[in-house]
Amino acid sequence: MNIIFGPINSRRFGKSLGIDLSPSKKQCNFDCLYCELEPAKTVDRYIDIISVDEIIDEVKKALETHKDIDVITITANGEPTLYPYLYNLMVEINRIKGDIKTLILSNGSTIYEPKVQEALMLFDSVKLSLDCATNRCLKRLDRAYSGISIENIKEGMLNFRKRYLNPLIIEILFVKNINNKADEIASLNNFLIELNPTRIDIGTIDRPPAYQVEPLSYEELRDISLQFSPELPIYIASRKKVMSKPSSYSKEEIIDTIKKRPLTQDDISVLFDEKSKTIIKELIDNAQLKITNSSGYDFFVIND
Ligand code: SF4
Repeated sequence: MNIIFGPINSRRFGKSLGIDLSPSKKQCNFDCLYCELEPAKTVDRYIDIISVDEIIDEVKKALETHKDIDVITITANGEPTLYPYLYNLMVEINRIKGDIKTLILSNGSTIYEPKVQEALMLFDSVKLSLDCATNRCLKRLDRAYSGISIENIKEGMLNFRKRYLNPLIIEILFVKNINNKADEIASLNNFLIELNPTRIDIGTIDRPPAYQVEPLSYEELRDISLQFSPELPIYIASRKKVMSKPSSYSKEEIIDTIKKRPLTQDDISVLFDEKSKTIIKELIDNAQLKITNSSGYDFFVIND
């Protein structure tokens, strides 16, 4: 039973040590079409529960072995906030971790529960998934346990955002012909403007999914990013397996596209051919473009 995994290097967080709160089997209240784990019956609570002491022993051993950890990431084969002792676990981790940061990756489904919010308040960063803004989509894509509603999730996120002052990141995973329709994106956009998260990562399937569903191309993700309001801090999470077809852009097209939404280095690497990359370099050299850092990522923006 591997409670600890990694460390793995993440560009944004540095060296991350993972903790799996459900190492023996998948325990999740969602059954997402795109899940990289085997399909499993949804649950509303953990049946197999490891003790806080057992986890803390493993964390201590791992921190002894790896002295250069930047972040401890809490995750699970399933949904980590269903772990019943999350608050107690975080109290103990915060006691032993020193300067190391903490992060949780959750599907966001339990965020309306006060006890979950109390536990998440103990993290340095919280990342919540939000693939859908409508119940129709939630039922079709995330196939949530009965009784979970998008209204509860949205209300819980808004309420949590008011209390939580550390970085709150929202992740949206887009699946072809399911949640990439204009009306679903418009609903997500309206909600995200109200939520005002620190960053929004959009991505698509990059590992074999549990069910027969298809990813989008990087170009389609970029098109989706343009359907969101320009003030939303959207970052396209670059995945190795995303299909890329570099295109040629004129100077005017590059300026125009950056005016609509700033580009990241990944956007440029994937979308732009060599000639277009040279134009970007010239625009930087001429001070028409500049690079600014926003919530941990570099963006190419117009130098006003
Ligand atoms: S929430 Fe995560 S673990 Fe649960 S089904 Fe969806 S992708 Fe899989």
